[in-house]
Amino acid sequence: MEILRTRAEMRAFTARRHAVGERVGLVPTMGYLHDGHVALMHAAAKHAEAVVASVFVNPTQFGPNEDFERYPRDEAGDFNRCAAAGCAAVFAPPVAEMYRPGAATRVEVPPLARHLCGQSRPTHFQGVCTVVCLLFNVTGCDVAVFGEKDWQQLAIIRRMVEDLALPVAVVGHPIVREADGLAMSSRNVYLDPQQRRAAVALSAALAEARAKYAAGERDAEALRAVMRDRIAGTGGRIDYVEVVDAAALEPLTGAITAPARAALAVFFGGTRLIDNAALG
Ligand code: AMP
Repeated sequence: MEILRTRAEMRAFTARRHAVGERVGLVPTMGYLHDGHVALMHAAAKHAEAVVASVFVNPTQFGPNEDFERYPRDEAGDFNRCAAAGCAAVFAPPVAEMYRPGAATRVEVPPLARHLCGQSRPTHFQGVCTVVCLLFNVTGCDVAVFGEKDWQQLAIIRRMVEDLALPVAVVGHPIVREADGLAMSSRNVYLDPQQRRAAVALSAALAEARAKYAAGERDAEALRAVMRDRIAGTGGRIDYVEVVDAAALEPLTGAITAPARAALAVFFGGTRLIDNAALG
């Protein structure tokens, strides 16, 4: 597996692969890789002969009081996981290689970014769009795989790719979970044992909402109430508990008539966890 640190090395890799007729599949990550990330790499291999994982903790998607500095990092472990997953290369540039001096351009999709996570993280998706656009341009990838764990991010990237005619096929991958249902996340490492046990409330709340929906409940507020009740008493502090239109991400009121998504963000101590599930 090749380890690429610069834009030039990354471009040269893709040029070599394209020259022999191979497609390049990108899995963008912030590292501290877990089985969810590995599943994305395996999915990418179904669409591309050469899979590249990027490992880049992107400063522009963190707010001023968020965890950029202390975000967990394990480069050696990550490279081993990428190699074991069959990646042809890992792209792990320093910050100064991605954001050159004077870099000022930002990419954003305001109507989708203002809902859900955008309420408490107002600049987050601008940072995500900017770095993903940059990664697409630098890697020259043909296909890129993103997890449904970040449902809003996936919707925003699909919109960005469509609007800017970026020549990349975007593939979504289902959420990979721990045995008890907790969505895998690099941030789970922050949880103490008690918080870790309590954190199962997110997936449990979504499962209860799905069960109510399957039993015929269509009222968005009633479904939100089911989820809030499941979180109450766990020690989790709700950031949001929402039922939104699955594509437009607008919060729904009244009866659900189109594909919807239940989504939530809950703090356990200083750790903010997110999860989501389809309704219908
Ligand atoms: P991150 O490193 O957290 O920025 O995530 C990198 C990519 O992996 C994103 O597309 C995430 O949606 C995806 N991802 C993270 N956790 C999971 C998971 N538990 N299941 C599926 N995809 C995930």
